[in-house]
Amino acid sequence: MNILVINAGSSSLKYQLLNPDTQEVLAKGLCERIGIDGKFTYKPAGKEAVKDKDVSMPTHSEAIQTVLHALVDEKNGVIASMDEIDAVGHRVVHGCDTFAHSVRITDEVMAAIEECNPLAPLHNPANIIGIKACQELMPGTPMVAVFDTAFHQTMPPVAYTYALPYEYYEQDKVRRYGFHGTSHKYVSQRAAAMLGKPIEELKLISCHLGNGSSITAIDSGKSVDTSMGFTPLAGVPMGTRSGDLDAGILEYLMNKHGYDIDQMLNVLNKKSGVLGISGVSSDFRDLEDAAPKGNQRAQLALDAFEYSVKKYIGAYAAVMGGVDAIIFTAGVGENGPDNRANIVSGLEYMGVKIDREKNNVRGQEVDVATADSKVRVLVIPTNEELMIAMDTAALTRK
Ligand code: ADP
Repeated sequence: MNILVINAGSSSLKYQLLNPDTQEVLAKGLCERIGIDGKFTYKPAGKEAVKDKDVSMPTHSEAIQTVLHALVDEKNGVIASMDEIDAVGHRVVHGCDTFAHSVRITDEVMAAIEECNPLAPLHNPANIIGIKACQELMPGTPMVAVFDTAFHQTMPPVAYTYALPYEYYEQDKVRRYGFHGTSHKYVSQRAAAMLGKPIEELKLISCHLGNGSSITAIDSGKSVDTSMGFTPLAGVPMGTRSGDLDAGILEYLMNKHGYDIDQMLNVLNKKSGVLGISGVSSDFRDLEDAAPKGNQRAQLALDAFEYSVKKYIGAYAAVMGGVDAIIFTAGVGENGPDNRANIVSGLEYMGVKIDREKNNVRGQEVDVATADSKVRVLVIPTNEELMIAMDTAALTRK
């Protein structure tokens, strides 16, 4: 079964054609600068990547057309015809409190996704454009929407309710939603497989640490709390996002510097996080270069990030009454042995002991805890495309 996975942004579109049963990726790539001039990257399995500049992509429709042509191309194609695409799985950022699971796309579902737009005005409209473009070009092919927020819909009210006047929740849907759900779901399932235990018997803390980062408490396979909130701005300091802060700071800085709300949010989303603290970079590799050379702010940025992740681990162990395994995933989680070691150092009292040698690993599924560690520490490369393809297959298989 071949599933085309589409992740449409406002001016870009990532795609992957894969078989969820064999986990084989047939081809993947990226359309960029949609609506500008169009740049196309296509990588068929086992062959050189093809890069094309100045492809005409006035809209997402031409972008998807370009992808489909590449997939069936005589020379570099990986399928004989579009009939070999059994279904399309679309990543959708926000499913509000309407979608607790992935869903087969119908007219009613499209309308309900559109109703979620005000909660993710930068992302959902682009996801919808991607879906509509595919529907137009592949009218007979079943489509599925997979939401970043769905996995977190199991959170109890005590975890998702903000201490604001309650009508903001009732009327305006202001609550914690959480994001990266597809990644947290995928790595939690892999963790259960690695540990050889039913997920229903496990308390897991999943640390998705990338450019954007979120930590999730997963009890019996269900998200019970997560660090991102109403938007992906909350939680730990990220590449350029501030994470949690005192809302009173906004008023102070806006008055002092004469910022309007857009300028203020631009600072919080684009100029803060480890970039803001260090003044060096949002990329953790640059910080790890600069810190040992004596750049104290780069060191402080790393320390503040690791400290914050550690605090969430402590909080989520408290919430669940214990933890069986801590999972590290995404760019930094998969590739940062020092980050991982620093985050769990001092958690020995909770029964967390890391094996320094085993921990010296990048991008592989490994248990890096010592043999006598009560809590397992798992490095698990995330695979959101595979999770989307698996959900899509499950909902469309005849
Ligand atoms: P995104 O949230 O954009 O998907 P990623 O999960 O790709 O982000 O993570 C990007 C971050 O991961 C960057 O800060 C980068 O420095 C870090 N990273 C990626 N590869 C490595 C590596 N080999 N060593 C250390 N950090 C890495």
